[in-house]
Amino acid sequence: MGKRLVLWDIDKTLLDVDDIGREVFAAAFAAHTGLAEHTVTRGPGRTEWQWFHDTALANGIEPADGEFAAFLDVQDRVYAERAADLAARGRVLPGAREALLRCADDPDTVSSLLTGNARRNAERKLAAFGLDGLVDFAAGGYGDDHMDRPELVRVARRRVAERTGVEFTADTTVLVGDSPNDVLAALHGGARIVAVATGATAPDALRALGAHTVLADLTDTDAVLAALHS
Ligand SMILES: [Mg+2]
Repeated sequence: MGKRLVLWDIDKTLLDVDDIGREVFAAAFAAHTGLAEHTVTRGPGRTEWQWFHDTALANGIEPADGEFAAFLDVQDRVYAERAADLAARGRVLPGAREALLRCADDPDTVSSLLTGNARRNAERKLAAFGLDGLVDFAAGGYGDDHMDRPELVRVARRRVAERTGVEFTADTTVLVGDSPNDVLAALHGGARIVAVATGATAPDALRALGAHTVLADLTDTDAVLAALHS
């Protein structure tokens, strides 16, 4: 088998952390802006940068340069306070740990993340469930790298090339994710997509968007590995 760069989405693909992400974001947005109440915005699979931008605009705020970075510092403090909630209210989705283990053990696979979560959030979420040793965080693309999710594919590939000298292509890069934005990130960013129907989007809808492979979930580890290498 040839070498593969496998980039996992987190929320509703590897983990279900209930509404903690939205609660933390809202608390951090309130603390950052000083607003007693604010209008929330929704959109699964958005980058955190886009989420912040959308929410700021929805509340009449034009984000200044550097403001998102300042918001992330506030949000990270809120996450630190809520770290125990992640493990208490969240769960690893069935098969996710086994799939990550197999990829981590495969010398032909670089296994990392492509997620709308900012990197520090991604690290906190995986660490809460003991998954943080199973991916190469430095090879991933995160929601604080770029506002547009498809750009994260290029970010991840550049990081891998800089660190290892290996240039992955659209044929050798595989995203695994649950939302329409995961599919679109692969199609527009230049990667294959293995979609999993463990989020809010039905298998047919994921296929209609152009997902090459759709799995009901990650429980059949052999099927997951076969899809990654097909
Ligand atoms: Mg997701």
